[in-house]
Amino acid sequence: MRILIVEDEPRLLHNLAKALREESYAVDTAADGDDGIVKALDCDYDAIVLDVMLPGLDGWQILERLRRKKKTPVLMLTARDATRDRVRGLDAGADDYLIKPFDLAELLARLRALIRRAAGQAESTLTVRDLVIDTRSRTVSRNGEAIAFTAREYAILEYLVLHRGEVVTRTAIYEHLFDESDDTLSNLVDVHVFSIRKKVGPELIATRRGQGYCIET
Ligand code: CA
Repeated sequence: MRILIVEDEPRLLHNLAKALREESYAVDTAADGDDGIVKALDCDYDAIVLDVMLPGLDGWQILERLRRKKKTPVLMLTARDATRDRVRGLDAGADDYLIKPFDLAELLARLRALIRRAAGQAESTLTVRDLVIDTRSRTVSRNGEAIAFTAREYAILEYLVLHRGEVVTRTAIYEHLFDESDDTLSNLVDVHVFSIRKKVGPELIATRRGQGYCIET
């Protein structure tokens, strides 16, 4: 999953980006509103963490401009515990909000929920055939037995499962799951899918020649 963080406080931005990368998200950052809106419109993020008080465009203006074009899930960060702010944010099309200072674990949980809801999936556990995918612990099991996945393999499988019934291109996988700073090549997606298939069986993920991969519904 690729996340954009728009936050002008350098230490918070750094810590958030680090924490999200540790959770295997691909992370882009913007330290002001003008850079934030350019990136938010330019790339199809799986979610955006958006601070309200920013130099340049503020969080409200970014949200308003974004919503004219895109439905990207947005988690607003507000410094004030003001009902007015929360109502304004939700009215303006924010999907959720957190009041600073917030607990990192709560931010991660809310992001996971936003991403799942955007995929039409309310539960934190995904079931596909005989596999159970727990998005909280990022684990995969079959008949109660855990299957060992690397972080990358897990991220690819979760992304394909959240987009069940759609053909997912290698480029989409690369853009949503691999960080800008990653120097790995996109054809490594094939290597990861090969090793996922060895673990879950060859029939779960179909290859659509010249298009990408698909998990049938
Ligand atoms: Ca700020």
